[in-house]
Amino acid sequence: MDEALRRQIGAQVKNRTLDLKPPACAKLAGGFFIPSGVIMAARSKTKSAPKRAFLEIRDVTKKFGDFTALEDITLDIHEGELICFLGPSGCGKTTLLRAIAGLDVQTTGRIYQKGRDISDAPPADRDFGIVFQSYALFPNMTVTKNIAYGLVNRRMGRKAIASRVEELLELVGMPGSGDKYPAALSGGQQQRVALARALATSPGMLLLDEPLSALDAKVREQLRHELKDLQRSLGITTIMVTHDQEEALSMADRIVVMSDGRIEQVGTPIEIYRDPISAYVADFIGSMNFLYGRMDAGGHVQVGRLKIALDDAANQFATGDDVVVCIRPEDVAVRDLAQIKTNKYAMSIREVEFLGSFCRATLDVDGDKDAELIADFSINLMRDFKLTRGTRLKVALPTTRLQAFRGDKRGE
Ligand code: ATP
Repeated sequence: MDEALRRQIGAQVKNRTLDLKPPACAKLAGGFFIPSGVIMAARSKTKSAPKRAFLEIRDVTKKFGDFTALEDITLDIHEGELICFLGPSGCGKTTLLRAIAGLDVQTTGRIYQKGRDISDAPPADRDFGIVFQSYALFPNMTVTKNIAYGLVNRRMGRKAIASRVEELLELVGMPGSGDKYPAALSGGQQQRVALARALATSPGMLLLDEPLSALDAKVREQLRHELKDLQRSLGITTIMVTHDQEEALSMADRIVVMSDGRIEQVGTPIEIYRDPISAYVADFIGSMNFLYGRMDAGGHVQVGRLKIALDDAANQFATGDDVVVCIRPEDVAVRDLAQIKTNKYAMSIREVEFLGSFCRATLDVDGDKDAELIADFSINLMRDFKLTRGTRLKVALPTTRLQAFRGDKRGE
């Protein structure tokens, strides 16, 4: 299915004109299905995206007694995007999601959805579907009844409900499973049903609270792709809470990295990975080398025996400042060093770990612990340069790939 068509289907969902006609379906790459009725109807209707943010969160604070779980959260969420709240346990991700849903009302601050102030609205008056980590299906109801739950409450006719449920089962790749009970389903299937139930009323927004974390690794990875594919096809604004950086990097249009009830950084996965705004974000996402040193009078950071030149980042520090220089293991350069002017060092490989598609090498300069580095080398590079434990080699730390932050060694 081409992108334009996916967008058209999304517009239909947003306009609540979704007309799902079983049984013929188009299969999405991931495994979910878009019934062909949607595609036919979608061809005749398009709508351009509105300019203002879909969800506006303004100065939201949440206190539990004396404890501040959220502090001054201000964030715009755009229509149709999948945004992930990412952070360690206890950083406030779920609390923020629950404030958006109205399940835990914020202490101060306002929330607007499509310009409407929903800050004081009860959950039932807000326009979202939600999926929890624990599936939360009614065990004594069939799949059909679980999915139909919200539709019955809306007094939809019996025939319309039956056809809608079948459409939703098609959509989540489980046609014909309506008579089963939750206990007869795998974790992944239960989560598909929970997703169908959340989408049943064609909500304006989908809230996902760690929806994949209870599943085993293989199912999780498969559902990750399917969920993203479905979200893109429907174009439904989606907020997903996760503590799994890989999940966030692979699924999100934008990631909100949180720490201690605050937003540390908002950006696309590439921005967050390539240009972390703080040592905290750099540490939380992916692997990173942290080289702790001090700014010298010549504008270099002295890290053990390494003298490291920075580019413009050097301007933010004064002589004597404690500085931590960060570089990703895959950015340690070995090839084409003639083209790199600075930060070239002779190092030794102290350890090599074979990790399948690449090798992770621990490098140092004559045993200097402060200047120890992890570098990820491809198998080809290992072979071409005959790299093995004990090899001495020249490496470069390209200034364009360095980040530098104020700070000394943590815990000292
Ligand atoms: P996790 O990934 O472990 O769920 P989280 O980032 O989603 O973590 P929250 O559940 O939002 O974290 O909790 C943020 C903080 O608020 C935690 O310290 C938690 O103990 C506290 N908290 C959450 N709900 C309540 C509550 N109802 N009463 C008191 N404290 C709470």
